[in-house]
Amino acid sequence: MAGCPHPNERETPLFSARDYVSGEEFEVLRCGACGLARTTPAPAPERMERYYPAAYYGAASARRFPAVVEALQRALYGARARAVERLAGGTGRVLDVGCGRGFLLDAFRRRGWAVQGTELDDRSAAHAREVLGLQVHTGPAEAWPWREGHFDAVVFWHVLEHLAEPRLALERARRLLRPGGVLMVGVPNFASPEARLAAAGWFHLDVPRHVVHLTPRWLEGALDAAGFDVRRRSFLTPEYDAFSLVQSAENRFGLRHNLLYDVLRGRAAKLLGGAPRAQAAAALALAVPLGLLAAPATALLGLAGRGSSVTLVAVKRA
Ligand SMILES: [Zn+2]
Repeated sequence: MAGCPHPNERETPLFSARDYVSGEEFEVLRCGACGLARTTPAPAPERMERYYPAAYYGAASARRFPAVVEALQRALYGARARAVERLAGGTGRVLDVGCGRGFLLDAFRRRGWAVQGTELDDRSAAHAREVLGLQVHTGPAEAWPWREGHFDAVVFWHVLEHLAEPRLALERARRLLRPGGVLMVGVPNFASPEARLAAAGWFHLDVPRHVVHLTPRWLEGALDAAGFDVRRRSFLTPEYDAFSLVQSAENRFGLRHNLLYDVLRGRAAKLLGGAPRAQAAAALALAVPLGLLAAPATALLGLAGRGSSVTLVAVKRA
């Protein structure tokens, strides 16, 4: 299949899933040879506006999530930057591919790194550029301006699953890194118990924006093939973990898909229109007891290596 080296391999249909933004239905298929799953049909480039509406990014200056969530996120980003720095042997130049609002790059910058980001287009780069004053390169990866070996660290933070060719992206990262440079990759864990139980209701499935669905085993194999040694593995992503379990459970209970997520998003970042108030209230009320269960449950799953996201930190082989 596309995105893995087995274009002629038989694919197993896993399930179909509806996009909560566009309402369109997609299939999830898995390659029989390597286990990489993908969304089909792949989202057509001319329909991206429909799958990534303006509200997906929110207004550049507005909060997208409650302040407490964004504060937690920033603390966690600082810890991740520190982990990369330790393996890199100090500060240097870092590239965040698909840097989004730019908070992770901001965490690197505060530690003294020279930072660069990339984004799909000017719209998705607006917050990082205008609010944080970061340098963000837009346009296709083929046109990136950096020479080989330019960076000491490259980051794909919940980005690889949006790319149809994740192997090519890892190979490009290797070329951009100096020998001994550090690559950090965080993705949803399609092999997690949460993903398996929730299936089409899984919060992190996010078809068709997620065009591939990665497992730790597949990712470790791809990193090894691309010339990296994996040094650190973490299955704890506290800003996502408990929320993802609560949202996935509510989806399975039959509430409107990702309604809680939408209720919690800032006013300028709403993706769903016209959900009945009673259902929105139910989504919020249910989140309290579910959250009390989900916090310890996801911590235990994460410590057991079964969390719903995985972060790998790898070093480029000399
Ligand atoms: Zn394959």
